[in-house]
Amino acid sequence: MAVTYKPQLNYVDFRDLTEQIRFQSTEGKIWFGEQRMLLMHLNAMAAFRREMVNSMGVERAKGFFLRLGYQSGIRDAELARKLRPHCDELDIFLAGPQLHSLKGMVKVIPLEIDIDQETGEFYGKLEWIDSFEVEICQTELGQMDEAVCWALLGYACAYTSSFMGREIIFREISCRGCGDEKCVIEGKPAEQWDDAEEFARYFKADPIIEELYDLQAQLSSLRSSLHKQKGQYYGIGQSGAYNKVCKMIDKAAQGKVSVLLLGETGVGKEVIARSVHLRSERAESPFVAVNCAAIPPDLIEAELFGVEKGAYTGANQSREGRFERANGGTIFLDEVIELTPRAQATLLRVLQEGELERVGDNRTRKVNVRVIAATNESLQQAVEEGRFRADLFYRLNVFPVKVPPLRERLEDLPVLIEHFLEKFHSEYDKRTLGLSDKALDLCMRYHWPGNIRELENVIERGVILTDNNECISQEALFAVSPPTTEDSPTDCVDMGGKVTNGHESTGVGSWSEHILGNNISLEEVEETLMREAMERANQNVSKAARILGLTRPALAYRLKKSGILAET
Ligand SMILES: [Zn+2]
Repeated sequence: MAVTYKPQLNYVDFRDLTEQIRFQSTEGKIWFGEQRMLLMHLNAMAAFRREMVNSMGVERAKGFFLRLGYQSGIRDAELARKLRPHCDELDIFLAGPQLHSLKGMVKVIPLEIDIDQETGEFYGKLEWIDSFEVEICQTELGQMDEAVCWALLGYACAYTSSFMGREIIFREISCRGCGDEKCVIEGKPAEQWDDAEEFARYFKADPIIEELYDLQAQLSSLRSSLHKQKGQYYGIGQSGAYNKVCKMIDKAAQGKVSVLLLGETGVGKEVIARSVHLRSERAESPFVAVNCAAIPPDLIEAELFGVEKGAYTGANQSREGRFERANGGTIFLDEVIELTPRAQATLLRVLQEGELERVGDNRTRKVNVRVIAATNESLQQAVEEGRFRADLFYRLNVFPVKVPPLRERLEDLPVLIEHFLEKFHSEYDKRTLGLSDKALDLCMRYHWPGNIRELENVIERGVILTDNNECISQEALFAVSPPTTEDSPTDCVDMGGKVTNGHESTGVGSWSEHILGNNISLEEVEETLMREAMERANQNVSKAARILGLTRPALAYRLKKSGILAET
């Protein structure tokens, strides 16, 4: 039997619903029938909604609230059937809108409802007055571009679908939250909506975490390809010395000439080799880096050129060497001077003929590999001493590039520091304020025997030891103050308040000389330092321990031992 609702008709008294509410206050529970309910602040819900919208955008937030409403709609449909078993279907149906009102969410005025449970037909048009979601938007989010009564709509869909036993979809055809005069919803079976499928997607939980993981993976691969493209710190620097290197490298990269990189350890030869590779036509093929000094001499041939099963004891299976792995690409041979005479001979053959034989094999294999070699010793001298083949040296030395040590390009220090700070900030998820002026000054005057690698380590240490929003001090960079050049004298005030020449009194050399020259014992030095630290710390042992770089128990022990603590 089809029932049509006309306004002002049987909008029954809903005392039967009100009676279901029980406040079990002393137990901390509110019941609605058999369901536990919550009485919560509209403001809290409003703040929550704003946060959801801000952190995941309108579309996702909308899905969350539609599903929130959906869950209570299902439960209420079940309750309605239980509470009104003998009523006609319209009265049972109306429990839904009434429950919505009862819960303080919205006042519902049915405008038109056609229900036929037998045929499954349904049409509903209802007006919502004082929707809590409109109020939330007005206070927290301002006017929106589209209808805002999301949770209410989810409820209507779930309640009606559950009631009808088929999928009924409601849409808000006008909403005060987006500037319309009224909130009006219209509902009909899903198949009568053109975009039912699209809308139904809101009801599917859509775990954002999957997407986040996905994005994270994309981000890290983008980051690493970006790093590769930049060749890490290749190209960082404006100094004349370094620019010259970059120009050479760019020229070398285009052809297939072997490149010989010369320079002290730590100047970034592997990074430059990688840059040559990435700027060449071989960029898509493998780049294989080998540190010849790190491989035992008796294994180096097998490692570089491969080995056949049974070639020597322990060669249990055949495997390809680094050259075969780099086929089509580039191989970087660092400390090439360490190659054994036999390996030098094979390398020469690879360079001349483009072929090699694996250790213990007599099959000749073709390889097409660009060789970039590097050394921090003079190959020329090694040739003279008979340690390195002259013909191989000439072959490798076609395009020598000298990479300057860091101390010859100190102008680049600030940009390199900036680069490493950025790297370690993101690696340690931290943000320091960068180097203090004093620390930067120290870096500018330091020799950097370990070059860029040393700088990288120093900056990493600084970032680890410095808290967020603090400057990296010179103590954080260097465990022991490093020797520097031209330490310009500075004046300072001594303990007696006199202005003294700091240069003479602060260097390690000068005070140690003073102590040793005056026969002052280690014990006296320790005692004086502890007294002074205690003085400065106002006799606070923990503070004094920090000044001296000791733990509190360690200092307390020493203070007792020397009798200082007993006096104070
Ligand atoms: Zn609305």
